[in-house]
Amino acid sequence: MVRLNEIREAEQAVTPPLDVDAGIYFIGRCRTPWSDRLKCPRQGRLDGPLCRIEVFEPWIAALDGIAEFERLEVLYWLHESRRDLVRQSPRNDGNARGTFSLRTPVRPNPIGTHIVQLIDVDGPILHVRGLDCLDGTPLIDIKPDRTLFTPIAPRQPGDDQVGDAQ
Ligand code: SAM
Repeated sequence: MVRLNEIREAEQAVTPPLDVDAGIYFIGRCRTPWSDRLKCPRQGRLDGPLCRIEVFEPWIAALDGIAEFERLEVLYWLHESRRDLVRQSPRNDGNARGTFSLRTPVRPNPIGTHIVQLIDVDGPILHVRGLDCLDGTPLIDIKPDRTLFTPIAPRQPGDDQVGDAQ
């Protein structure tokens, strides 16, 4: 069940630290048909409605080469989410589980991600299908879908030698 700002039975809120560890740039915004969280799809669909991703200056040059990819991974900042819940009850049924075991928009860093189908590139505007965020949601990154991407940098010696973290 999609939430607005309530705390439900069995949920747990914490007090986030006052200091933040990093800053991010909003590089653009998502234009979608949804202005109401309760009506927004929970996960986008590649056959969903046509949406736009608008990239702002000075980041427009970073779109060079993007039209080669039919699918992109888009990351956005779910700006209307609360950020303090560590246990949540998605069904609002008195049972809760940890935020990191859910794809809920309510997270310490409310980053949403989805694969979109790239329909067209028109300067700083990408026409896509597959978004699941509110109209005006800030954009934080765009990457080629990892299944389509072949690393462009030459391989380095030792690339295959991977040890366990200590
Ligand atoms: N596909 C992304 C993911 O898995 O990371 C987001 C999934 S999240 C379940 C999608 C839901 O977040 C939508 O149904 C809507 O209720 C909510 N939502 C969408 N845009 C939002 C925004 N800008 N701020 C807060 N909540 C948002």
